[in-house]
Amino acid sequence: MRIVKTIKEMREVSRWYRGEGKVMGLVPTMGALHDGHLSLVRRAKEQNDRTIVSIFVNPEQFGPSEDFNTYPRDTDADLEKLSGLQADVVFMPEAREVYPEGFSTLIEMGGIGQVLCGASRPGHFNGVATVVAKLFNIVIPRRSYFGQKDFQQTVIIQKFVRDLNFDTEVIVCPIVREPDGLAMSSRNAYLNEEERKAAVILHKALQLGEELIHSRRIDDASKVKKEMIALIKKEPLAKLDYIDIVDPHNLDPVKRVIFAAAICLAVNIGKTRLIDNIIVERR
Ligand code: AMP
Repeated sequence: MRIVKTIKEMREVSRWYRGEGKVMGLVPTMGALHDGHLSLVRRAKEQNDRTIVSIFVNPEQFGPSEDFNTYPRDTDADLEKLSGLQADVVFMPEAREVYPEGFSTLIEMGGIGQVLCGASRPGHFNGVATVVAKLFNIVIPRRSYFGQKDFQQTVIIQKFVRDLNFDTEVIVCPIVREPDGLAMSSRNAYLNEEERKAAVILHKALQLGEELIHSRRIDDASKVKKEMIALIKKEPLAKLDYIDIVDPHNLDPVKRVIFAAAICLAVNIGKTRLIDNIIVERR
């Protein structure tokens, strides 16, 4: 497994692979890798000749009062996991390499980056889109892999790939969960024992939403939201940021769930902000 730290070397490796006719899959991550990330790497390995995993905690996507400095970092463990899966290249540049002195160009996602998580994290998705676009330009992957765990992120990436004509196929992989239903996340490491137990409320609320729509045939989004909010309120350590039921293609809010909808939520458990979602389809 080759570890690459500079953009110049990454470009050389990628050019070499392309010259050899090898198809590349890219898995962008911020490290502190868990089974959710590894599921993306496995999928990339299955579908491509070469798998490139990037590890980069992107300062542009953190707000001034967010956890950039304390975000979990564990490079040794990450490299061991990736070498176990036989990833071909790990691209792990320094922040100065990605954003040199004088850097000032950002992708502006507009309204789609200002709803859901974007409402409480202004600028976050512009930072995500910018760094992912940079990775696409550096690696030029035929396919790129993202988790449904960050559902809004997948919609945004698919949109800028379309809008700006990037030549990569965006593949969205299912959410990997702990046995009790909590979606795996690097930020779960922040939770103490009590908070960890309380965090299952996100998945419980989504399951309730799904049941109301599927089994109880409720199609009124506001009714579904109300019952989910009532359930979350019963958990004393949980503080709701938002629940929204949206069109999975453009994130517009839906009043009635007729075909498919995404139920997205963010909840603070103690000081840790967690997100989760579920896609429901009317049968
Ligand atoms: P992150 O390191 O949090 O930026 O995540 C890197 C990629 O892994 C993103 O595409 C995430 O959506 C994906 N990911 C994170 N957690 C999970 C999970 N529990 N299941 C599936 N994919 C995930």
